[in-house]
Amino acid sequence: MSMPESKSEPPLDPLPQDWQRALAVVAHPDDLEYGCAAAIAAWTDAGREVTYVLATRGEAGIDTLEPDECGPLREQEQRASAAVVGVDAVEFLDHKDGVVEYGTALRRDIAAAIRRHRPELVVTLNYRDTWGGLYWNTPDHVAVGRATLDAVADAGNRWIFPELTEQGLESWGGVRWVAVAGSDRPTHAVDATPGLERSIRSLLEHRTYIEVLTDEDPETYCRTFLTQNVQAAADRFDGKPAVPFEVFSR
Ligand SMILES: [Zn+2]
Repeated sequence: MSMPESKSEPPLDPLPQDWQRALAVVAHPDDLEYGCAAAIAAWTDAGREVTYVLATRGEAGIDTLEPDECGPLREQEQRASAAVVGVDAVEFLDHKDGVVEYGTALRRDIAAAIRRHRPELVVTLNYRDTWGGLYWNTPDHVAVGRATLDAVADAGNRWIFPELTEQGLESWGGVRWVAVAGSDRPTHAVDATPGLERSIRSLLEHRTYIEVLTDEDPETYCRTFLTQNVQAAADRFDGKPAVPFEVFSR
């Protein structure tokens, strides 16, 4: 089944700008770099604070590397790639790569991060079963995306996870939007032009992973992939290359 022509789809609205803090919650190192780093670069340029929370260290992601060796390496690459787009705070929740379970433990960890950082915008990655009906999604992405959407409500309710309150993490109901990158049903977008070059360098920081993934020159691979991605949304965003998001308002 093919996707409908994007030309026939309604225009994407600009993502709301009246916020100061964003928390991006994803499963693996590289999820944000494949998904939306150009938008993140634009946000930090504008003086907004963005924090990354990763459920795992991506330790099962490279066939030729033992997880014990791979985890710390990918953590290091993730920190470097975050720095390229102006993000200094990167946290890891230490769930197990490849077998992340949707459930209250994951929701609690994400709710705790939301209460710690008190964001107005939460960003996550495609939580649906497939990528646009074409490719099967991974269970980690599905679990983390869904748990993130759910944890936004958990973070705002002091009677859910009262143990977090006991740890000094007061409830936070100030999340106004959850923006899902990589969704096949986008509603909003961010102009990718100012952040595109940095998003390419940001993805390139995952060098070990990319060198195993492709025989292509890593820079050519990253540039081609990300440029095509943002061009694909231009038809629905006034001809501008864009990072699309499916936005849930609260
Ligand atoms: Zn991933």
